[in-house]
Amino acid sequence: MSERSADLMPGGGGQLLLASGRLEVALQQIGPIPLEARFHCDAGELLALVGPSGSGKTTLLRAIAGLMKPQEGRITCGQDIWFDTVSGFDLRPQQRRVGLVFQDYALFPHLTARDNVRVALGHLDAAQRAAQAERWLARMHLEGLGGRYPSQLSGGQRQRVALARALAREPQALLLDEPFSAVDQVTRRRLQRELARLREQIRIPILLVTHDLDEAVALADRLCVLHGGKSLQVGDAETLFRRPASAEVARLLDRHNLFSGSVVECQGQRRLQWGPLTLEVAEGLERLAPGQAVTWYLPDSDVVLHRGDRASRGEGENPVTGRVSEMVVMGGTTTLAVQVDHVEATLRFDVSTHAARRNALVRGERVQLSLLAAGIHLLPDESTEEMT
Ligand code: ADP
Ligand code: MG
Repeated sequence: MSERSADLMPGGGGQLLLASGRLEVALQQIGPIPLEARFHCDAGELLALVGPSGSGKTTLLRAIAGLMKPQEGRITCGQDIWFDTVSGFDLRPQQRRVGLVFQDYALFPHLTARDNVRVALGHLDAAQRAAQAERWLARMHLEGLGGRYPSQLSGGQRQRVALARALAREPQALLLDEPFSAVDQVTRRRLQRELARLREQIRIPILLVTHDLDEAVALADRLCVLHGGKSLQVGDAETLFRRPASAEVARLLDRHNLFSGSVVECQGQRRLQWGPLTLEVAEGLERLAPGQAVTWYLPDSDVVLHRGDRASRGEGENPVTGRVSEMVVMGGTTTLAVQVDHVEATLRFDVSTHAARRNALVRGERVQLSLLAAGIHLLPDESTEEMT
């Protein structure tokens, strides 16, 4: 194990409080719980683990912390091996130096905020603990609240104590399990901003479990999509939302605009056949044989609504017509569903409410759209063989 980096610790602005190395995780099966997770998180990186309830997010964090033992796999952090079934390595939770924060705070109710932090300072001399506890409380903006019991603190303050306690251990990795989901929205935003700021001072891997996609996109460098204990795709938000690895990932990310089509040869060019419509696709078709069925996906940013008065971006590119079947105004954004002519399919996308008004859009209105060829993403068809 590496030395604790006490020299990184003195308080004061702009300093690096904690540093470590890359966390690498490859795990399979924990008792009866299926798990097939593989990802890494660099020091200083924030990786969001997203997935529906029951997808194994908490189980995964507990396994990384050493609280559950997988049947197979390996966990390393920097130079340190925490777990490795091949060599029989299995560090105890206390030896792994992870900072854990849970949704429900998990503070000791009979201890003050100060003492809750102090229990994480067992690695320091007793004489240093009090001052260090105060320092961590101050870093979490809890000055003057050290003497309060958890019941005397607000939800946001409790979560800051939990974070102070997690960091006081000088962890090599920080694991946050839905840390902001039990507080009100204003507090959540504030805690999110504080986490973003804190990241400038701690260069350790941070795993953030959240079921809030907006939170994941706002805070994380990359996302790992979990389902049924399996890590389906890891990537930045742009990649995941524009190029999901499967229809399943697209659905888990709450994406619409997944359709079935097939590959056709059209005057020497490959095209995507969608009902009676023939679409141009910027890339991916060359890997497929004519006649092959495909599932295809279009990010809603690549559906262009044509303005009545002047040409808009991509006009002429995969033009389709249809009828507005749904229109939901939510503040500055209007969500449209358009029933496309000649195919039994509905395209969903957002336009600015301003644009919807300017075009005098109403339900039932006929519209012209372009489906941008660069946005069309071909997915391995789940019902047929995989793409090669
Ligand atoms: P998430 O945090 O993503 O909601 P969990 O990690 O809590 O998911 O659970 C993943 C799966 O493992 C669920 O199907 C859950 O029922 C199951 N599970 C969790 N804990 C245990 C346990 N101690 N024993 C058996 N099954 C468990
Ligand atoms: Mg959970």
